[in-house]
Amino acid sequence: MTVAGKFDNGDGGEFQSPALERLVRSLSRLPGLGRKSATRLALHLVGHDEAAGPAEELVAAVTEARLQVTNCSSCGAITEADPCRICKSERRDSTQICIVATPVDILPFEKAGFYRGRYFVLGGLLSPLDGVRAEDLPFHRLGVRLEKDGVKEMIIALDVSVEGETTALYLQRLFADRDLQLTRLATGIPVGGALAYVDEVTLQRAFQFRRTF
Ligand SMILES: [Zn+2]
Repeated sequence: MTVAGKFDNGDGGEFQSPALERLVRSLSRLPGLGRKSATRLALHLVGHDEAAGPAEELVAAVTEARLQVTNCSSCGAITEADPCRICKSERRDSTQICIVATPVDILPFEKAGFYRGRYFVLGGLLSPLDGVRAEDLPFHRLGVRLEKDGVKEMIIALDVSVEGETTALYLQRLFADRDLQLTRLATGIPVGGALAYVDEVTLQRAFQFRRTF
């Protein structure tokens, strides 16, 4: 195809190597990578002559992770052993369960180190617009887990978004008749945040959930 005023060299701006093109295309399908970054990465990966270069290391790491990584059948955390370390630990309080949307959401809690209860990963949030309905999420498994562990407090730690709110309300309704304390993470002014620059919704929530001290 010739664009007016442009010389058509017939290769559509692609490398003269179908193998490199394939690598660039595979990389650019990864989240957050456009063609430009994918090209830079591809050239970095193939541009080493040594036998154990970054490409070989990457291939080995991906293969290993694909083989080893699984989800805990009890809580949904990413783990290599099932049940995971947190579910297995005798030192964790099984009567307290923290509900998160994704396995990644467990990490900040564990890094901070103050939480001694256990977790349950929903694997997503209810979103009628995106077609995520209640039957797509493991609410039944959660109910079984609450029963089995004699859970007394369920802490809802979901995103502050329409989907997060919808899911939190659904959980509240679903387990309303259980002898269970339902709590949610507080929302408000971030530590170190300047009041003048806080958005209206955050300010309104901080005001709504103000407490005496
Ligand atoms: Zn687990």
